[in-house]
Amino acid sequence: MLLIKKAGQLFSHLNAEKKLGKRIGFVPTMGALHAGHLSLIVQSGQENDLTVCSIFVNPTQFNNADDFNFYPVTIEKDIEQLVSSGCDILFLPPVAEIYPPGHTKKNYPLGQIENMLEGYYRPGHFQGVAQVVERLLEIVQPDRLYLGQKDYQQCMVIKKLIQILDKESEIQLIPGETVREADGLAMSSRNLRLNETNRKAASAIFETLRFIKEQLPNQSLEGLKEESRARLEEKGFIVDYVELADADTLESATDTNRRLIALIAASINGIRLIDNQLLN
Ligand code: AMP
Repeated sequence: MLLIKKAGQLFSHLNAEKKLGKRIGFVPTMGALHAGHLSLIVQSGQENDLTVCSIFVNPTQFNNADDFNFYPVTIEKDIEQLVSSGCDILFLPPVAEIYPPGHTKKNYPLGQIENMLEGYYRPGHFQGVAQVVERLLEIVQPDRLYLGQKDYQQCMVIKKLIQILDKESEIQLIPGETVREADGLAMSSRNLRLNETNRKAASAIFETLRFIKEQLPNQSLEGLKEESRARLEEKGFIVDYVELADADTLESATDTNRRLIALIAASINGIRLIDNQLLN
């Protein structure tokens, strides 16, 4: 595996490979890699000639200083895992390679999705995501971009960004299924910060999603949301939202005659976790 830290060097290297007809798959990450990230690397390896993974903890997408400062860094282990998953190139840029002096922040017209759910609870988050992803796409120029459905709203935002950048014919967005721990907890770099008690309680998020799916035919949407919230609070969570939404727009659903998704964001001991599940 090649390790490249300079944007210009990666760009030239990949440009030469593209001219030889190589297909490039790209998996952007913030590191502290786990089996969820690696499933995207493996899928990209199967579908492309070259797989590039980036590890960059993007400061512009954090709205909470503690979340940024305590974001786990496990770079040596990450490198080992990338090598054994067949990654070809790791892009590990310092901040100045992504945001060189003079780089200005745009305002991306992401539409209403920007301010719903995650956008509401993390103001500015999706503008920061769009900013880093535009820059990474410019450097990597991938044919396929692999993103996890665990961050369902982020997938929608990046789909919109690709439209805004007019790159729909060049870049195919491939959503990957959420990889879970044995008890159902969605794998996340932030899980490393959970203590033993919190870790046990954290399975309640997946259990609540399962409860929603089972109870959907029997209960009102509002009743289900309320009961789900209460279940999480009972386990010690502070709940930002339990939402039952239209899976195509993320607007709050009023009936079940559409494709629905349940989305949860909740914190335990200050560690904020998100998860979702398609319902029908
Ligand atoms: P992150 O490092 O958290 O920014 O995530 C990098 C990519 O991995 C994003 O596209 C995530 O949606 C994806 N990802 C994170 N957790 C999982 C998971 N448990 N299963 C599948 N993909 C994931």
